Amino acid sequence: MEIITNINDIQNDLLIWFSNQGRLGIPWKLKEDGSMPETGEMLSPYGIWIAEVMLQQTQLKVVLRYWKKWMITFPDLLALAEADEQEVLLLWQGLGYYSRAKRLHKSSKLLVNLIGKNNILDFSFWPVELDQWMALPGIGKSTAGSIISSAFDLSFPILDGNVRRILSRLIASNKSSQQDTKRLWSLSEQLVPNHNPRDFNQALMDLGAIVCTANKPKCNVCPIQNYCLAFLKYDPIDFPKRNLKKEIPFQEIGLALVFNKDGEILIDQRLDSGSMGGMWEFPGGKKESNEPIEKTITREIKEEIGIDIKLVEKLLSFEHTYSHKKLFFTVYICDFFSGKPRALACQKLLWVKPNRLLEFPFPAANTKIIFALFKHLGIEKENL
Ligand code: SF4
Repeated sequence: MEIITNINDIQNDLLIWFSNQGRLGIPWKLKEDGSMPETGEMLSPYGIWIAEVMLQQTQLKVVLRYWKKWMITFPDLLALAEADEQEVLLLWQGLGYYSRAKRLHKSSKLLVNLIGKNNILDFSFWPVELDQWMALPGIGKSTAGSIISSAFDLSFPILDGNVRRILSRLIASNKSSQQDTKRLWSLSEQLVPNHNPRDFNQALMDLGAIVCTANKPKCNVCPIQNYCLAFLKYDPIDFPKRNLKKEIPFQEIGLALVFNKDGEILIDQRLDSGSMGGMWEFPGGKKESNEPIEKTITREIKEEIGIDIKLVEKLLSFEHTYSHKKLFFTVYICDFFSGKPRALACQKLLWVKPNRLLEFPFPAANTKIIFALFKHLGIEKENL
C-alpha cells in the first residue's frame, strides 16, 4: 500500500492555501449568521446533506442557486419530510438525475424517525457514523464522509472526482482512478487530519476545482507541487489514466402535444419504478428503424395511451444529451381524434390548459418543448 511520507507538510500547505485561496463563502459551510465556524464547531447537517446530494452530479455554481431556493422552501428536515413528492420534484426541476430528489425525500422520513421529530434542530442528535449515513438511499462512502466531516468537523476521508484526480496525480498512479479505488481511499484516509478535517477536505475539493483541473492543471501555483509525482516526473495531464470511452447510444424520439377540443393538452406521469419516475412528460416514444417519425408518434400514442390522433404540424426538433445517451426529439402538435385515453405505460394521464404546464415537474428536455409551445401559442411567460 502506498505510504506518503510528507503527510504533515501536505496537510499544512493545503490548509494555508485554503485559508487564502479556497472557496470560503459556500453558504452551507457557514454558520447561520454567515460567519465561519470555529474548529470543531458543528454546522447544520441538514443543509450540508442537501448540498452534498445536489453536488453528486452537478457543479457548484448551479447547485448554489438550487440550494438557496431549496432552503427557503424546505428550511429544515421536517419541512422536507412532510412535503408532497410533486413539490420536491418541481423544485428539483432542471437539476437532472431526479432520483436524487426522490431519495432525499424518502431519506428525510428515515432521518426524522432516527433523530426524533423534536430533536431535528439539535445537531447533536444527528448521525455521526458512516454506516448510518450510508444506510440512506443514494449515499455512498464519499458523500457520507463529506457530510460528517463538514457538519461535525470529524476526521472522515472523501473520494469524489476531484479528489480522485489529485491523489492519482500525487502518486502518478498507472491505473485509472476506478481501478485504483482501494489505494486512493487509503491515501485519502492517511491524509485527512484529526485537527480541522472539515477545512482539509474542502481544501482538497477546492484544489481540484480551481488548480488541479482535469485538462489544464495550474501546477505553477499549486501548494502541493513539491510532493506531486505527476508534476515532478511526468505530465500531469496523463493522470489519472483513462478508461477507453464507450460510445454513447443515440436514439430518435417522437413526441405528441395532443390537444382536445377544449384546448387542453395531454400529459403523462412516468412510472415511479423507472428513471425520472414521478415526473411528467409529453407522450411518445422511440422510433423504430426505417420508420418515419410521424408513424412513430401515432403508433406510440396508440400503444401507450390507446387513442388515435391526427398530426397537425411539427413544432420543433432538437438534440438533448444525457451523460449516458443522446436523444433526438421531433415534436408534433396533434389533435385528439378518437378513443378513450388510458394510462397503459405510465401511472397517470391529465388534460391541462397549456398555461398550467409549469405547475408540473418536467425533465429538462420537456421544458424546452413547453417554452417552444408557449411561443407558438403566444403565451407570455410573465403572464402565467
Ligand atoms: S502539481 Fe499539478 S498535478 Fe500535481 S496536484 Fe498540483 S496541480 Fe495537480
